Amino acid sequence: MKITFLGTGTSQGIPIIGSTHPVCLSTNKKDKRLRVSVLVEWDGYTYVVDCGPDFRYQMLRSNCTKIDGVLFTHEHSDHTSGLDDIRPFYFRQGDIPIYAHKRVLKSLKKRFDYIFVTKNKYPGAPTVITNRIKNRPFILKNIEVMPIKGKHDALSVFGFKFNDFAYLTDMKTVSDKEIEKIKHVKILVINALRIDPHHSHFNLEEALEFINKVKPEKAYLTHISHMLGFHDAVEKTLPKNVFLAYDGLEITI
Ligand SMILES: [Zn+2]
Repeated sequence: MKITFLGTGTSQGIPIIGSTHPVCLSTNKKDKRLRVSVLVEWDGYTYVVDCGPDFRYQMLRSNCTKIDGVLFTHEHSDHTSGLDDIRPFYFRQGDIPIYAHKRVLKSLKKRFDYIFVTKNKYPGAPTVITNRIKNRPFILKNIEVMPIKGKHDALSVFGFKFNDFAYLTDMKTVSDKEIEKIKHVKILVINALRIDPHHSHFNLEEALEFINKVKPEKAYLTHISHMLGFHDAVEKTLPKNVFLAYDGLEITI
């Protein structure tokens, strides 16, 4: 299985438009972060988790020419607003499967009504095949994917475990029962927004506590704000099996 980090930044991305914060002005490529998304590939299949405003550029940058589906963690704009840009895949491949909780599907249908209409549909609009996911395992091609439920402030969000790879973002609370599902996983990805606490995201300290509970072989932090600090400086402070993810990072499991 190959994982490619397409984006590792928080909702505004890094740099933030117009910001003069030193991290936003950094010339280190690892400090440039598009909105969070990850590509998961195995046995010739390719799935994307989340499809935010940078989706088009992320597909170009990773030379991704085919997708088998898009999984959504939740409906916030930084995770969904690129859905229209599945068009090139739709034109080449046909209807594109999407996987989301029913609340997220409802939100997508409202915001991208022209994608979901069946009558008088504009010929250039893409069509999706909706797959409603609940908090129970589901099959993608030849593997079983396990949803991991957590809370993003009051909103329920799903993380996903693909074999020995668990990807969780926008978490603030995760129950012990859900943590049990990913204990001792090989690779864990978890959000760590910044140093200071935040109402809907783990800060660095909370992310490290979470990693201590899960006890993965290796953990990577994502959904990073400029307020976490410079990539290279922060990484030096982390435990030896914890790393900051960065855009373009590839991991093979
Ligand atoms: Zn987010």
